[in-house]
Amino acid sequence: MKNTGKRSNLVLNILKERCPNCSQGHVFKKGNLLKMPVMNEKCEACGYKFDREPGYFLGAMYVSYGIAVFFGILTYLACYFFFPSLQVIYIPIAILFVILAISRKNFKLSRVIYIHLFPW
Ligand SMILES: [Zn+2]
Repeated sequence: MKNTGKRSNLVLNILKERCPNCSQGHVFKKGNLLKMPVMNEKCEACGYKFDREPGYFLGAMYVSYGIAVFFGILTYLACYFFFPSLQVIYIPIAILFVILAISRKNFKLSRVIYIHLFPW
């Protein structure tokens, strides 16, 4: 990894889906909301290769699972505290709805977190 001296805030880089090497290039191509996100092969600014090796992003599944569980727990707590009279059957439905609603962002975020955690 090249040290460009332009490293900015890690959390901001992850949220803005920026390159882990230069913090300038975008990890994902711009697309519409109905399609699955497509990654750039290399950083447009510094040429950093995002997909390091075959199967590199298998580890991002664990990050994705953690994000989904986190939002599932948040949804459960929101249902428990803000809608105490809600029937129990609607809680897993609400959790499924939230997890499906964030799935696209979860996909992108988990990969970006993973390449920032393991940039070599
Ligand atoms: Zn870059």
